[in-house]
Amino acid sequence: MKLIKLLIVILGILIMSCSTNNSNPFFNEWDTPFQVAPFDKIEEAHYMPALLEGIEREKQEIQDIIDNSETPTFQNTIEAYESTGEFLDKVSGVFYSIRGTNATDGLDSIAKEFTPIRSKHGDNIILNAELFEKIKYVYDNEDRNALNTEQNTLLDKIYGDFARNGANLNDEQKDELRKINEELSLLSLDFGQNVRNDGNQWEVILEETDLIGLPESVKSAAASIAEGRGHEDKWVVTLDKPSWIPFLTYSQRRDLREKVFTAYTNRGNNNDEYDNKELIPKIVNLRIRRANLLGYNTHADYVLERSMAKTADTVYEFLHKLWKPALDRAKTEAYDLQSMIYAEGNNFKLEPWDWWYYAEKVRQEKYDLDDNELRPYFDVDNVRNGAFWLATQLFGITFEERTDIPKYFDEVKTFEVKEADGSHIGILFTDYFPRKGKNVGAWCGGFRDQSNRNGNWIYPLVTNVGNFTKPVGDKPALISLEEVETLFHEFGHALHGLLSNHVYTNYSMPRDFVEFPSQIMENWAVEPEVLKHYAVHYETGEPIPDELITKIQNASLHNQGFGTVEYLAAALLDMDWHTLSETADYDPIEFEKASMEKIGLIPEIIPRYNSYYFKHIFSGWAYSAGYYSYIYSAILDSDAFQYFKDSGDLFNNEIAAKYRKYALGISGSEDAAETYRKFRGTDPKIEPLLIKRGLK
Ligand SMILES: [Zn+2]
Repeated sequence: MKLIKLLIVILGILIMSCSTNNSNPFFNEWDTPFQVAPFDKIEEAHYMPALLEGIEREKQEIQDIIDNSETPTFQNTIEAYESTGEFLDKVSGVFYSIRGTNATDGLDSIAKEFTPIRSKHGDNIILNAELFEKIKYVYDNEDRNALNTEQNTLLDKIYGDFARNGANLNDEQKDELRKINEELSLLSLDFGQNVRNDGNQWEVILEETDLIGLPESVKSAAASIAEGRGHEDKWVVTLDKPSWIPFLTYSQRRDLREKVFTAYTNRGNNNDEYDNKELIPKIVNLRIRRANLLGYNTHADYVLERSMAKTADTVYEFLHKLWKPALDRAKTEAYDLQSMIYAEGNNFKLEPWDWWYYAEKVRQEKYDLDDNELRPYFDVDNVRNGAFWLATQLFGITFEERTDIPKYFDEVKTFEVKEADGSHIGILFTDYFPRKGKNVGAWCGGFRDQSNRNGNWIYPLVTNVGNFTKPVGDKPALISLEEVETLFHEFGHALHGLLSNHVYTNYSMPRDFVEFPSQIMENWAVEPEVLKHYAVHYETGEPIPDELITKIQNASLHNQGFGTVEYLAAALLDMDWHTLSETADYDPIEFEKASMEKIGLIPEIIPRYNSYYFKHIFSGWAYSAGYYSYIYSAILDSDAFQYFKDSGDLFNNEIAAKYRKYALGISGSEDAAETYRKFRGTDPKIEPLLIKRGLK
């Protein structure tokens, strides 16, 4: 009797879990068009069981590789490892996309619960010695000539992922590496928190008389911060960029500009509990020790191995090539600003906290570009269609709106992307306006990557998400020039995903390459030929007049010396810290001073980030020895765009075909520097970027 009862209970559980699984869309095949997730059927309760199931399946897939008694080969080990986690990817692709655009408390708490589970799962794989033994066997024994380029890249990538995490070390060294990593993660957390705490506490409370020079929009932003901080009928400036930059741009109160700027640039340097000066040498030294342990001379060597630039020498070389013309231009700009100070009847010397204020005056005088004059030409639908039209000119591909495909939010628009011959490429979802629960900023994401394992072509599902100006009343959404550039930028990332042509998906694009396909689109966005096509007045249908186009082009040269110099100074500082090969008791202030003296930075400009609040490189390490990446991608996009220009045809189909094949199609599955050469015929040159920024 007891037994029967138990059986019934077990059976009951089985039936229950079965029926739960049946109603959980993640456990069923999706018979929607292009196997897009059936968003309307997915409930919050479906995520966690599916995510956990994904982990279990991947564990089993890994175990199957380990248990395979055959001699390890590329197919039974590397390819097998590459295709693990498919179910987990399917579920998390949906989960993380939806959480980014439609976050709820429920989704947040799932993420909070699941993130540590997933990261532990990832550690268990990368530290799995039995798995690594098999991978290493293939790496050491496989006939490389029998593998094609993509397979060789994949083998190196996967072996590298393990080796760079210490898989080749002995037990004692592994212990040491673990300790270094633990210490580094704590220090980097402290570093970031110190910057935040030091910055968050600071505020300057303004009285009505302190507001002189501020436009209404800046005043009302300051008033709402004051209200949020409990200061009735006052105005507050904080050290957040959206607060202090407009203040420095418009405030006529030089004393307050100095006060705000000094506070901003001294975060982490106030000799108090949030001071970061002692943490910096600790972080730098631990990174040197880790690099040495893993067989590298410096942290930069370790990081740059996986970049397009490859070596610190290459990075220094092009940074220095840019530095001289940028500094010359900045000196001219400083002269112009100083002249304006004299012309106003003042005789003080230009200081860093004056730069934004006088640069804005010069801008108004010289360039006179009013955002509100432009907006009527930038109806967001027209801009998007302009980006589509550009892709059609270049690659012959088309975009057809579809209304029969499930979408995750009403406002989302869905486009089927097709080849010129009508064959399917993938789906692009555009989701452009802010709403509650959406992350800030703009990004390109997706539900599924392209792949082609065993001849089974998987079509990509890509999203472009933004927080652009919303339509007001019966007017369409009229966006700013900056938003236009952002739309084209994200569309460039989308094309990279849509036109990718890989067998496998396990690639990480080099950080210094990844913004190339996006930034190149910004070049086309402001070309007269392209503007004339899409920038038409939303009421009259008239294309944008030539004089406005000229204004846009002239204004793009404004203050470029300053912007390039403050950025390059920070990029060089980052490289100086991370090319050190000896541990020592470095003094951050002295070190930075020497570093900046070496390159001759002028006193009117300071690096975009001083060491003690340089979170990009000291909090987390995503950008350590990598802050240069932004301008490296800029060199690539300017150089590649110049290729089109030099041909006399902005939409040159032959060049576009090479660009599609090498820069978008196979990038990642082959060395990025190599694919760039195949596209361009040469290595990238810096001159086009110099010309574009008016530095030459
Ligand atoms: Zn981007």
